[in-house]
Amino acid sequence: MLVVGGGLAGAVAALAARARGATVLLVRRSPGATALFGGAFGVAPDLDALPGDPLLGRRSPLESARRLAARRPSHPYAVLGVHDLDEALGFAGAQLSVLVEPADGRPRFLAHVSGGLAECGLCLHSQAAGDLRRVRGLAVVVGFSGHLGFDARLVAAGVGRLTSAGGPRSAAVEASFFTGPGDGALRPFDLARALEAPGAAEALGAAIRGVLPRGASVALLAPVLGINPAARVHARVEAAAGLPVAEVVSDPPSVPGLRLDATLLARLAGAGVEVLDGEVAAGGGPGRPVIVAGETVEAGAWVVATGRFIGGGLVRRDRMAEPLFGLPVIASETGAAGLTLAGRSPVSLTFRERTAAQPLLAAGVAVDPACRPLDEAGEPVHARLFVAGALIGGHEHAADQTGLGVAILSGWLAGRGAAGEAT
Ligand SMILES: Cc1cc2nc3c(=O)[nH]c(=O)nc-3n(C[C@H](O)[C@H](O)[C@H](O)COP(=O)(O)OP(=O)(O)OC[C@H]3O[C@@H](n4cnc5c(N)ncnc54)[C@H](O)[C@@H]3O)c2cc1C
Repeated sequence: MLVVGGGLAGAVAALAARARGATVLLVRRSPGATALFGGAFGVAPDLDALPGDPLLGRRSPLESARRLAARRPSHPYAVLGVHDLDEALGFAGAQLSVLVEPADGRPRFLAHVSGGLAECGLCLHSQAAGDLRRVRGLAVVVGFSGHLGFDARLVAAGVGRLTSAGGPRSAAVEASFFTGPGDGALRPFDLARALEAPGAAEALGAAIRGVLPRGASVALLAPVLGINPAARVHARVEAAAGLPVAEVVSDPPSVPGLRLDATLLARLAGAGVEVLDGEVAAGGGPGRPVIVAGETVEAGAWVVATGRFIGGGLVRRDRMAEPLFGLPVIASETGAAGLTLAGRSPVSLTFRERTAAQPLLAAGVAVDPACRPLDEAGEPVHARLFVAGALIGGHEHAADQTGLGVAILSGWLAGRGAAGEAT
């Protein structure tokens, strides 16, 4: 079978199909939105919770996903059902266990570089000790005195706002680090690479140890602890600091996102999925050959996981379009049944009030419960054509925070569905 797209949805689809014994070729032309994610896997936050509600009482991601599905019939959780969400999350967590902390059925609350909070269903090992639902005592946010790109005080203030909801107390300190000539201008990627060097992570840990106030229970750091998981930067910093250390959630460009991308590629190779760098052009499909990077590729089942605007699964010309198969694009988040707004100017599909439904940002193709894309008449386009991830419409990752949960669930379903009939 052929998977088009190498973000999280395509990777999970390929791995799920491999686990069922299929021979899988994955084609991707570049990293996608997955490589921009901040480190917190949005599955389903408790949208009914008020800011001051106790963190311990918040609903589980599965329960929140059920409630979301009941309220929003066009959301992928409603269309696909959430009965398999737990298993799909477990599968993805196990496949990515070198990087990802296993799900425990409870939500995690992580500090964000912006001073905000990210609620998630899965997170990276390097973030787990910063789960504010679990931290007791004093969370110390540690900045670098030589690099002011990370505002430790801002993050500490954000953490402190949760103390009355059962979160830890917070403080901000600066470790004397990245103080060399030019260090102050290093980008997150450069900082991460610098910390991979022998001795660098240990030196950072020692610098942190030197500035920790009495009673510190966890040190929260900028999300720059290495790109390559094999460099074990987090573990090395933690060992030298002498207390649990956690990265906070990143803004784009995101080091945790690049780390996830590298981990996906390594895992695909390890599982025996052939990965081809290249672009799939329109004209192919299940049973119809297509030329990729000079090779003729033919597969009986396809999973299209080409993402949305960043990945290239949707394009905005004079109207919004899905370029590979010309699938109908639904751009209605208003609940108006079957309303297709994709023919309108994209500018008219956003509203100034940020919290209002934004049809442009929830645009995508419609699918049946087996992840097969639907034509204008609402029928599956082809029995062996599947779609996964952000290309599926009806969810808006920034507002409903279900981006990677949808990628995992739909990737898992699409990969298994395609493998069932793979050639
Ligand atoms: C800035 C930003 C930050 C985000 N942060 C978070 C977060 O912290 N938590 C969260 O849960 N969600 C987050 N999201 C949402 C989440 O990242 C996406 O919902 C998710 O990554 C989508 O995964 P995907 O695999 O469907 O698509 P993508 O990751 O976009 O992958 C698409 C893939 O398809 C490939 N492709 C496209 N067309 C072709 C073609 N013709 N031929 C070959 N390859 C092709 C691309 O090269 C790419 O490999 C964020 C999104 C953005 C934009």
